[in-house]
Order: sequence, then C-alpha cells, then structure tokens
Amino acid sequence: MSLNSETALYGILGHPVRHSLSPLLHNALFKKHHINAAYLAFEPDPASLPLAFEGIRSLGIRGVNVTIPFKEEAENLCDEVPEDIDRASGAVNTIVNRNGELYGYNTDGPGFILSLKEDLSFDASGKTALVIGAGGAARGVAFALGKAGAEEVLILNRSAERARGLQEFASGYFTETEFRAAENEDALRAEKIDLVVNATSLGMHAGDALPMDLKKLKQKAAVLDLVYAPAKTRFMDEAVKLGFANAGGLGMLTGQAALAFTLWTGISEGVRESMMEELNKWKR
Ligand code: NDP
Repeated sequence: MSLNSETALYGILGHPVRHSLSPLLHNALFKKHHINAAYLAFEPDPASLPLAFEGIRSLGIRGVNVTIPFKEEAENLCDEVPEDIDRASGAVNTIVNRNGELYGYNTDGPGFILSLKEDLSFDASGKTALVIGAGGAARGVAFALGKAGAEEVLILNRSAERARGLQEFASGYFTETEFRAAENEDALRAEKIDLVVNATSLGMHAGDALPMDLKKLKQKAAVLDLVYAPAKTRFMDEAVKLGFANAGGLGMLTGQAALAFTLWTGISEGVRESMMEELNKWKR
C-alpha cells in the first residue's frame, strides 16, 4: 500500500533506537493486513520527551512504542495509565492515542509469558524460576512470573544488592509467590529449579561469560535467554548440550510487539507467527 494523505503514523521512541527491529515487524504486519499505516523510529533528545509527547498529540500519531531510556518517564506523560500489574513492573512500553488522549500499557511481561507458553510449552503456575539479572528486563520477568502464579522466583545478579532490591519490590505486589535473592551460583545447587531466564546482557557480545553454569542445577530446567542478538547464544548451546528445552529472546520480542499491534489494530490472530516469519527472513 502506498503512502498517502490518509496514512496513519505509528512509531518507536528510544535513544539509541537505530538498532530497533520494531519498524521491520510492524510495517510488515500493516502490509500483510492491508492497513494504511507506517511505523518509524524516532530518537528524541533524552531531555525533550515531553515535547515528543506533545508532538504525538498534536500530529495525531496513532500509537508508539517506548524503549530505553524513556519507559519510566513516559508513564508520567500519559493521560491514562490503566491500573494493572504489567505496567507496575516495567513502566510503559506501548501508547495508544485515543482521540488525543494517550493511554499507556506494558506488553513486555505478557510478551514474555506468551514466549514461555508458545516456545517452551511452559506454564509458570506453581513452578520455581530462576531469574538471572535485576535490571529492567528482569523486573518485568519477575512480575510476569508472579502474575502467572509461580510458587518461587529466585533472583541471581552480579550486584547482589540490586537482586535484593528487586526481591523486596516484587514481594510488595505478590503474596502467593515467594521472591528470594540468591547470594551466588553455588547456593542454587540445592534448589529445585524448573525455569532459568537470562535477563542480563551477557551473551550479546562475543567473549561474554555465561550467565551461570547450568551444570550446577540439580535437575533439568527449561532455559529462556532474553538476548535476541545474536538469535542463538552460547548459553542456549550449553542448554542444548545438557538436553534442556531452550528458546531465545526473539520469542519475547515478537510477543511484546504482537500485543502492541493488537492494542492498536484489534488484530491478534497469527500476528506473532507472522512477525517471527519476518525475523527469520531478516536473519538469513
Ligand atoms: P539493564 O541494563 O537494565 O540490566 C542489565 C543486567 O545485566 C543487570 O542485571 C546487570 O547486572 C547484568 N549484567 C550486565 N553486564 C554483566 C556482566 N558483565 N556480568 C554479569 N551481569 C551483567 O538491561 P535490561 O534489563 O534492559 O536488558 C537485559 C537484557 O535483556 C539485554 O540483553 C536486552 O537486550 C534483553 N532484553 C530482551 C528483550 C526481549 O524482548 N527479548 C526485552 C528486554 C530486554 P548489575 O545489576 O550487576 O549491573
């Protein structure tokens, strides 16, 4: 579909943002569904996010994704932020413009749960999960696991203090899930862990250390590595060697993107699968 005076505009705000795969995914889906819309990447100066939000309102941009470093500030700039636990975990990553009112949502946690379900056939309810990392992604994952009814969530992080901070923060929201900070890898030997999530940036660069030694686990676990570039990490190779089910970060990436696309268009069926196909073409 060619661009014309009716074309609706969507986009992503981030800094830096030029590495983002979101334009590729959303533009492919607009085309597939014959929607007259375009999705672009914007890199506003970090100090001028309020101006960018005024631009969204005044130009009638229909929807945006928000990524690092804007997710928390964006929450304060929305007109409506529906009270839900997904948003509490990681601020706002998706905005819908409804007649000039900006509604903020977070699709990262639900995107992670979608990936667990569809890529690993894993239901977190009643399970014990180990989250490695305590940054933004780990926070979203810990909350999603609490919401999904995990029995226990262990948090292991290079900076143990940050792990304890996340433990305290998440414990304030969920009463049925026990959050515990693990002091170190060796302390995990005694734990019955069903799921390991790498939510650190380890694996993005050649020569990175592994997030942990999976051989230290006392039983087989499913392994989800949130790193998506490269699509297959050394941590995933280790999981394969040990016979553990495993998946990479493209599943969550397409999960959160598909849920944003649904918020904007109402279309849900087959969206994540189509986005995966686009990424497979891109990887080749
Ligand atoms: P943050 O910068 O908020 O957190 C980084 C985390 O990695 C911290 O826990 C940090 O530990 C840890 N870390 C960084 N370097 C090292 C190291 N050398 N050794 C041990 N630990 C280290 O990043 P995010 O949480 O936003 O992102 C984390 C990862 O998740 C990235 O790879 C990102 O691409 C990926 N991600 C994937 C998504 C997806 O859709 N698949 C969505 C969001 C993120 P410390 O606290 O000690 O500094």
